[in-house]
Amino acid sequence: MRVDLHTHSNVSDGSLSPAALVDRAKEYGVELLALTDHDTTAGIAEASIQARQVGIQLVAGVEFSSQWSGRGIHIVGLGVDPTADQLIAANDQQQQVRLRRAEMIAAKLEKLGCPNALAGAQELAGTSVIGRPHFAQYMLNVGMVKNLNAAFKKYLGAGKPGDIKLGWPEFEEVVGWITGAGGVAVVAHPDKYKMTRTKLCHLLDDFIEAGGQGIEVVSGNQDRNVTNKLLQLAELKQLWVSTGSDFHHPGRPWNELGSQQRLPKHTLPNVWEHVATV
Ligand code: AMP
Ligand code: MN
Ligand code: MN
Ligand code: MN
Repeated sequence: MRVDLHTHSNVSDGSLSPAALVDRAKEYGVELLALTDHDTTAGIAEASIQARQVGIQLVAGVEFSSQWSGRGIHIVGLGVDPTADQLIAANDQQQQVRLRRAEMIAAKLEKLGCPNALAGAQELAGTSVIGRPHFAQYMLNVGMVKNLNAAFKKYLGAGKPGDIKLGWPEFEEVVGWITGAGGVAVVAHPDKYKMTRTKLCHLLDDFIEAGGQGIEVVSGNQDRNVTNKLLQLAELKQLWVSTGSDFHHPGRPWNELGSQQRLPKHTLPNVWEHVATV
């Protein structure tokens, strides 16, 4: 079965509407899809109607921003109830953090010679959840950078001025939001954090202690060696295995819907055997 449990719509920083995302997933042969927008479940209702139309199984998901030990960590929640009070409150809280963070990013960028950054990024975001990609696009539009990657490399990525550390909740709290809403918490794209194996083990121990159960063994087109190492870690910690493309935009074959690397054979439970569809 073709499974993709990590995707973004234009409700956060993707470019397709939730319904168009579901259509594209169908086109690419995905049978089980999770919509996991950044810090919001606002796209789930639309996606679920379309999933029923086209005959795809949909998992209600979210990708929460959090921090652990001072580092930014993304936690995917799968099979959450989007109508749970606690989850709605969590969405609101995260939007507040994003707004405050956007103001701080804008102030930094203005000092570095990028005028009207807040208004510019907000205009690009429209009703979507605002994030660094909107600042990157604005910087590209005003000619401060040659491409989006350069915007992250110079201004917005880890350790750069626009990488504001403040504000995200501790990951224990975020895991609690997910499990409290009936979902399974999954550590997103562990390789992106560039941690040592020891650090990652420590993170996983804390994650399990907080009630987390899953790990993305495959994320997008990551290296095979990385996949094998993550599978070993999953085995060591007895975690459930997840897989996702982290799709945001059409036309990027390395993150196309459902076309992430295949999971190697393994004997652990797959996370999708333990989550509800809507
Ligand atoms: P935020 O959610 O505001 O912290 O922004 C993080 C998002 O920026 C990620 O989910 C990616 O979609 C995007 N992103 C991160 N690094 C890059 C990059 N180098 N080039 C383009 N987009 C990126
Ligand atoms: Mn994103
Ligand atoms: Mn992420
Ligand atoms: Mn993502």
